[in-house]
Amino acid sequence: MSISENVIRVKNRIDAAARAAGRSPGEIALVAATKMNSADSVAEAIRAGIRVCGENRVQELLEKNAQNAYAGSSLHFIGHLQKNKVRQVVGLCDMIESVDSLELLALIDGRAKALGLRQDILLEINIGGEKSKSGMNESELPRILEEAGAFPSVFIRGIMAIPPISHENGENRAYFARMYKLFVDNSAKKYDNISMDFLSMGMSGDFEDAIAEGSNMVRVGSAIFGARVYPQISE
Ligand SMILES: *Cc1c(COP(=O)(O)O)cnc(C)c1O
Repeated sequence: MSISENVIRVKNRIDAAARAAGRSPGEIALVAATKMNSADSVAEAIRAGIRVCGENRVQELLEKNAQNAYAGSSLHFIGHLQKNKVRQVVGLCDMIESVDSLELLALIDGRAKALGLRQDILLEINIGGEKSKSGMNESELPRILEEAGAFPSVFIRGIMAIPPISHENGENRAYFARMYKLFVDNSAKKYDNISMDFLSMGMSGDFEDAIAEGSNMVRVGSAIFGARVYPQISE
C-alpha cells in the first residue's frame, strides 16, 4: 500500500467510526504523526489530503521544515517538549499538544508574548498514570486551568493523552472514556484563553475506539506511513 492509499483508507475508517458513533465525520481531525518519515513521505501524505502533521522531536521538525516538508499542512508538536527547546517551536507550530506542567506553560507564554502571538496548546494528561510517560496527572488539570488566566499568550484548546500500549483490542476504551469525562467536566470557560475544543487521543492501533469514546483529534502514524524502523542502539 502506498502512503496515498493509506491516507484514503485511514480517512475512510475515521468516517466509518464517526458514523458508527452517531457523529459527523467532519468533526474528527486527523493528525499525521510523521516522526521518522522523510520530507518526501510527508509531502506525499499532504498531496493525498493530510492537513495536519504532528512531529515528536524538535530537531527532526526543524530539519524537515527546512526542506519545506509541511507546505500545505498545519503543524503540531506532539512529543515531549524540553524546556530549552520551547523557543524553537513557539510560533513555528500551530499547536503544541504536549504541555504537561505550569512551568512549561509559563515558558511558552513568555516566548509567545515576546513574539507578539498567541500559541495554541493542549494539556497532556498521563491517563494511565505511567511513570515512564510524560503528561500531568489528571488530578492536576483543574488547578492548571485555574491558573491559566495568568498566561494570556497561550490559548488552551483542549487535552491530549497517550494511553498505555494496549495488547488487546478495546483495552484502552476505559482510558478514552476517562479522558472524555475529564474533557466534559473541565469544559466550563474560566478565562478568555481557554476553549475546550479538542480531545486528542487515538493512534493507529486504537483510533476507532478513541472516536467511539469521543475523540475529535486522532494522531495516526504507522497506518499511514508503514511501520517505523528504529535504528539499532549499540551498547
Ligand atoms: C508516534 C505517535 C503517534 C502515532 O503512533 P502510531 O501508532 O504510529 O499511529 C501518535 N501520537 C504520538 C504522540 C506519537 O508519538
